Amino acid sequence: MKIKKLLVANRGEIALRVMRSAREMGIQTVAIYSEADRFSPHVKYADEAVCVGAPPSAQSYLQMDKIIEIAKNLGADAIHPGYGFLSERAVFSQKVAEAGLIFVGPSPYSIEIMGSKIEAKKAADRFGIPLVPGLKEAIIDINEAKKKAQEIGYPILIKASAGGGGKGMRIVNNENEFEEQMQRAISEASAAFGDGSVFIEKYITSPKHIEIQVLGDQHGNVVYLFERECSIQRRHQKLVEEAPSSCLTPEIRKAMGECAVLVAKSCNYYGAGTVEFVVDEALNFYFLEMNTRLQVEHPVTEMITGVDLVKQQILIAEGQPLTIKQEDLQIKGHSIEVRVCAEDPANNFLPEVGKLQTYRPPRGVGIRVDDGFEEGMEIPIYYDNMIAKLITYADTRTEAIQRMMRAIDEFQITGIQTTLSFCKYVLGHEAFASGKFDTKFVEKYFKPEHIATQAQADEEKIAAVLVSKLVEKISKSATFTNGTAPARQVKSNWKNRRYN
Ligand code: ADP
Repeated sequence: MKIKKLLVANRGEIALRVMRSAREMGIQTVAIYSEADRFSPHVKYADEAVCVGAPPSAQSYLQMDKIIEIAKNLGADAIHPGYGFLSERAVFSQKVAEAGLIFVGPSPYSIEIMGSKIEAKKAADRFGIPLVPGLKEAIIDINEAKKKAQEIGYPILIKASAGGGGKGMRIVNNENEFEEQMQRAISEASAAFGDGSVFIEKYITSPKHIEIQVLGDQHGNVVYLFERECSIQRRHQKLVEEAPSSCLTPEIRKAMGECAVLVAKSCNYYGAGTVEFVVDEALNFYFLEMNTRLQVEHPVTEMITGVDLVKQQILIAEGQPLTIKQEDLQIKGHSIEVRVCAEDPANNFLPEVGKLQTYRPPRGVGIRVDDGFEEGMEIPIYYDNMIAKLITYADTRTEAIQRMMRAIDEFQITGIQTTLSFCKYVLGHEAFASGKFDTKFVEKYFKPEHIATQAQADEEKIAAVLVSKLVEKISKSATFTNGTAPARQVKSNWKNRRYN
């Protein structure tokens, strides 16, 4: 069935991103917004917009029944969840279908299986996908778990089955730490997910996080769109992503891609999804989990493949067969994304609140900015603190890096500290340039004083912005004192006076 009107159950950059593709496809768009987002660009962009509630997400963007009701009342025939919020809630996908609407995403069944790291591991195991050595069941008996940890060999990692965003994860270096870290992981997991079940696996030292983008249709066809390297993280959350990875060989790329397709098939997946792997120094790869939605970092894949992933999601949701064949897909060029988040890298990446006093994104060849803010807007404290995604594209990795350095320099943000200074430090680091880095980049190479000079640079940037604003003002008033423009004005005033 053709989708004619799409409600986007999200906010900010991703709501805009989705609506842009929908509009190109001739689909009407409906935005929802909380009271904190009344003046947001995604609200202005949509054909229709409805306030869904108070600022806290529980009272707005997570209100499943209310959102479905709005969709029905406005005659929307589909709902796109974006990422975060309701995107990986099987019950939401189920409710949308029960209301007679199309959920732009996978079936409740796939979301359910892949939503549990333990169930996901079991499903992948049945298809012979390599897994990190460890338990495939939640821990019930601590002594049993200790014994198992001994067998696996320290260091080990405790993980929350319902985990996400790096929460509930604890590294245990030796047996003495085991019980304490276990208690911490369980209480963190219970608090964050309402589910305290945890399991353990081998902690891969020097790990790289590499993920594969897949697209599957409702007729059993699945293709992979190569990898994204996402090893630059803080608090187990990504900050710099790129495609392709600089360390994979064509053989390993193909093997990982084929594994990702199998993972998708293991849960009858349709839609866009991402299969995450951890890769060790010897390039052995192990399945971590599958994210059953569009990822924040999807643009780098779009840049190197030329595929509009949101458009594909919509076509798949309509029930159309994939027209993309695996053999047609090719990597062309190189793309890097940096996440511009409101936080202070010099202060342990502490989240920042405040107003975007200056907000001027860079422009020019090979640059894409996906954002959801405008100059003068406050960053609401209720949601994720990402302000924008800055993406560069070029023929080679070196050029994409150079372009990113230029773009970061041009990005003018004042009023708030952002991760841009940290990202510039990463891109200028020889470990990044050589491709020899892992998820420990921050611990290994980064110290706050590395960007102390960046703070100075920021001050210089602020000064430059103020000077340019001043020059603008002076040159405007200069036109009024030096002749031509004011003369025309006086003349027209005179004319008006004369004939009125
Ligand atoms: P979440 O769902 O909370 O993001 P993941 O399982 O995706 O958790 O892991 C988050 C990050 O933690 C990964 O990007 C990877 O860098 C690291 N990680 C996960 N499992 C392991 C492991 N067994 N060994 C080393 N690092 C790991």
